[in-house]
Amino acid sequence: MSTPVIEIDRLGKTYHLGEVDVEALKDVSLTIGTQEFVAIMGASGSGKSTLMNILGCLDRPTAGVYRLDGNDVSRMSKSALAEIRRTKIGFVFQSYNLIPRMDAQENVELPMLYEGIASSTRREKAREALRAVGLQERAHHLPAQMSGGQQQRVAIARSIVNSPSLLLADEPTGNLDTAASDEIMGIFQNLNDERGITVVLVTHEPDIATFAKRIVRFRDGRLILDEPVPNRRQYAQIKRPAASAEHAASAVAQERIEP
Ligand code: ADP
Ligand code: MG
Repeated sequence: MSTPVIEIDRLGKTYHLGEVDVEALKDVSLTIGTQEFVAIMGASGSGKSTLMNILGCLDRPTAGVYRLDGNDVSRMSKSALAEIRRTKIGFVFQSYNLIPRMDAQENVELPMLYEGIASSTRREKAREALRAVGLQERAHHLPAQMSGGQQQRVAIARSIVNSPSLLLADEPTGNLDTAASDEIMGIFQNLNDERGITVVLVTHEPDIATFAKRIVRFRDGRLILDEPVPNRRQYAQIKRPAASAEHAASAVAQERIEP
């Protein structure tokens, strides 16, 4: 078996708030392999965001071990974690966090600005990422000129522009209506199927969770359920103009499996 993307073993996280200790995660063990698509569920306050922050190397556990791609990251320095976030992990949040005065293309180019990547390469990669989310024709629209669903698609394009192996999304459809939510889930399915990006997504909506392959449920900081999705929903693939002959072939293949 290949090395799992995520391996957490007896993980704990305790926040110290003045006199009180809040045990946000207790004794959590979980393994997630490549190609997996996991939905994390649980009531508010059950520890979902705390887990996502640790998985995303934004925070460190106070107990247990977290291995990412086989490397123990639970005790790494902040700068080492920053490097891991930059190269391996994409983040999508409920709020799209786009820069209002930048158009879609510029927002997607942003993560590459800090890397000294040539502007022509940045442009090319951003276009490719916008194509992956079906927004190539909106490249020069400002966030205010787009719907919530479109803004979230720009945020997804931005999250994949550095080719992460792991995509973490905390309630990405929380601000969207049903149609836009389903479309966003279709994009995650696409990235998971076609690019092999491992997706871990938090949602409190059962309908949304059934787009995933596996559901993990938390209660009071403990993992209480871990099971495959029995009747997985598949979103009809978004239409994209082919970028190359290879893409054209896969687009045709997809069309055949569409319901
Ligand atoms: P969820 O995302 O499932 O709603 P969280 O992970 O945000 O849950 O929170 C889990 C618990 O940890 C809650 O009791 C919350 O109040 C507490 N908590 C979360 N973040 C912090 C923090 N930075 N400081 C102190 N307590 C926190
Ligand atoms: Mg949360």
